[in-house]
Amino acid sequence: MRKNIPFASFENMHAEIRRELDAAYRTVMDRSYFIQGKACEQFEREFAGYCGTDYCIGVGNGLDALMLILRAMEIGEGDEVIVPSNTYIATALAVSYVGAKPVFVEPELATFNINPDLIEEKITGKTKAIIAVHLQGRPADMDSINAVARKYGLRVIEDAAQAHGARYKGKKVGSLGDAAGFSFYPGKNLGALGDGGCVTTNDRVIADKVRALGNYGSDYKYHHIYKGCNSRLDEMQAAFLSVKLKQLDKWNQERRRIAGRYLSEIHNPLIALPCRSDSSFEHIYHVFVIRCRERDSLEKYLKERGIGTLKHYPIPMHLQGAYADLNIRKGDLPIAEEISETVLSIPMYYGMSDEDISYVIEVINRYGD
Ligand SMILES: *Cc1c(COP(=O)(O)O)cnc(C)c1O
Repeated sequence: MRKNIPFASFENMHAEIRRELDAAYRTVMDRSYFIQGKACEQFEREFAGYCGTDYCIGVGNGLDALMLILRAMEIGEGDEVIVPSNTYIATALAVSYVGAKPVFVEPELATFNINPDLIEEKITGKTKAIIAVHLQGRPADMDSINAVARKYGLRVIEDAAQAHGARYKGKKVGSLGDAAGFSFYPGKNLGALGDGGCVTTNDRVIADKVRALGNYGSDYKYHHIYKGCNSRLDEMQAAFLSVKLKQLDKWNQERRRIAGRYLSEIHNPLIALPCRSDSSFEHIYHVFVIRCRERDSLEKYLKERGIGTLKHYPIPMHLQGAYADLNIRKGDLPIAEEISETVLSIPMYYGMSDEDISYVIEVINRYGD
């Protein structure tokens, strides 16, 4: 039987909370107050509580969240920031936007996350910070990253855009460094119905500065202390996010269940599964990424059988035209390159039926027969 299983779907997720989302829309509409009002304040309080941080500041998107943290830390022209060579390009673009230079460090093939043992050799007199990305929803090795940072007096910024609700040694991501950036792009584990993002931190100075910088550099109305920008979380998105935050643990739990089935039931010597981490790393599977030497043939094979896939990501950042100026050649970051050539993300979403999960497993197990 031929099926049609999308890579991702909002259908069940939104159907279950449709009345609450509609009510949230009406509340904001009735208040007729759309920027920096009660809904944003409420969501910020809730999300800070959820992450276990003192502060949460709503911003326009995940890229801005990282960029505003860097600006608040006064990182810019002439500075270097350590970034994993395997991440979504937004991590590096945030560094470029403030005028600093991203310095790429290779990941571990097993976890896809930055290899902490390779950070030290990339640190120079110009290095100011490390951005730890919790890629795919798997927490980065924060103790090791924080230890290197402490040794050299560097700041640690978490890019938690793919990891809302993931935990490291029992603590939520977003609370594990000096500050963290989240994205609420619709497809993330906690997604708005449009763009959105936030910064979490326990540092009062960073919190105040991020809030002012994202509001035209203003600390109170018509009083401007920085050359800021406009990057705020609007009331409508904040109200939707408050509704969705209540479901996040349930949604993540379901993703973990689907991942558990994939991990125990996919058996194919041509396919490498993501490694199981020990219980210190609570992965929330923003995406479920398998690897295969003949990745493009596997992609075509799955497509022909009605299974949607994506590649996270097909071209590593150092080989993108945007970063040609860094003069990093093909072959210089072989692990990031190998990942880009072999990865394929398979269907993973709340509401995926057991029958569909079984079908994906069966079809993958038959690949290469
Ligand atoms: C999505 C994403 C971002 C950027 O978030 P936007 O809200 O799209 O700007 C940053 N880093 C990572 C790892 C992401 O996946």
